[in-house]
Amino acid sequence: MQKNQLVELEITDLSYEAMGVAHLDGLTVFVNNALPGEMVKAKILKVKKNFAFAKIEKILTPSPDRISVKLNQWVQTGLASLAHLTYQKQLAFKRMQVVNLLKKAHLDSIKVNETVASPKEIGYRNKAQVPVRMVSGKLEIGFFRKHSHDLVPLENFFTTDPEIDRVLLAVRDLLREMKVPAYDELHHKGEVRYLEVRRSRATGEIMVILICLHKDFPQLRKLAKAISQISGVVSVVLNHNPQKTNVILGKHDYLLAGKAQIVDKIGDISFSISPKSFFQINSLQTPRLYDLAIKQADLKPSDVVIDAYSGIGTIGLSVAKHVKEVRGIEIIDDAVRDANANAQLNQIHNASYVTGKAEEIMPKWAESGLQTDVIFVDPPRKGLTEEFIKAAVATQPKKVVYISCNPATQVRDLQMFMDLGYDFHEITPVDMFPQTPHVESVTVLERKK
Ligand code: SAH
Repeated sequence: MQKNQLVELEITDLSYEAMGVAHLDGLTVFVNNALPGEMVKAKILKVKKNFAFAKIEKILTPSPDRISVKLNQWVQTGLASLAHLTYQKQLAFKRMQVVNLLKKAHLDSIKVNETVASPKEIGYRNKAQVPVRMVSGKLEIGFFRKHSHDLVPLENFFTTDPEIDRVLLAVRDLLREMKVPAYDELHHKGEVRYLEVRRSRATGEIMVILICLHKDFPQLRKLAKAISQISGVVSVVLNHNPQKTNVILGKHDYLLAGKAQIVDKIGDISFSISPKSFFQINSLQTPRLYDLAIKQADLKPSDVVIDAYSGIGTIGLSVAKHVKEVRGIEIIDDAVRDANANAQLNQIHNASYVTGKAEEIMPKWAESGLQTDVIFVDPPRKGLTEEFIKAAVATQPKKVVYISCNPATQVRDLQMFMDLGYDFHEITPVDMFPQTPHVESVTVLERKK
């Protein structure tokens, strides 16, 4: 097999990144945009030792589950790489990811529930972060083509709240009008690198963040004023990122106009959100995820709960009314400040948050005599550390509720909990990210008797 060769492939599977999978000449071939059950004519793009990448030239037999997508760019850019698959099959695909990971770990007896569908299948995101670049002499916003930094200009971001799209386009037009230079990655010059827009579904408040190479430029004041006049915008912020880096956000934020925070809700609890705060992006599905976790955890009014990896306190504050006390731990100081402010905002008096590493704080609490009944964890994609799991087990909780955005690391961590005296019987995928291959899942570990 070699580059540019044309081959006929039978697609047998879908990778966890939503690439069609075929086998040819002893190699696994990943084909962008292809679906299981399809025969495709494809061009080989790259050949490695055990695998290759190919691109569809022609779909010879389309899958009955394929749906036509209005804008092929959504699939191509990775913005919505499952948009060509029916929603029912997307849900089944996500469940199978978890089934297969458990099988590999010899945990076939665990019940994997049906994936909980999202109330909204498109337009569900409460935040967009989009690159700004010059394309053929014109300032554009869009999305990078998969595995590249080629900007595909877009006006409809599909998975994002349409009100956010409206603001993104209005800001883009202002940048064009005022001739603000887009960031030029190659020469590390220009001004605006990314635009971020966040919108609260509960209050309609919108925050615009200009992520810029310099913290000032001639048009900035006029631009900020014009942005603050776009309908719904209550906050305009500049994030200063002077580095030559792929990391999107810089360290410092500067408030240009309006308020420093917006308020959104999860269920009936309000959250004040700062520019850098992590906030679940599917506002309507998040309360369903938490309700499910709370129900499965069968919380008692006498329970003491630790919300490790607490962010701005979303899980702990949602849990507080069901239990005696919630103690949260989070490494980012700003998030801890937000979490405590959010407890006050909702007049929740049995929840408090501290700054630190959960694996270091939990043993200290245990030493000082705290009896923990339930630990909630919701770690980043890389999952938990061995150190954390050992510290969690040492505090002897009756239950550990594990919410994960990466089932691969979740299954790895669940195995370690099992080795240390915990058990689980079922796991539920929850679709937080329709049209994308991302899988969220929740499970409750119980201490063996
Ligand atoms: N539960 C929150 C946040 C989840 S994101 C929510 O759903 O909104 C994961 C959070 O864990 C991030 O805010 C990150 O800063 C924090 N974190 C990462 N490592 C940590 C550690 N070792 N101890 C405590 N918090 C940590």
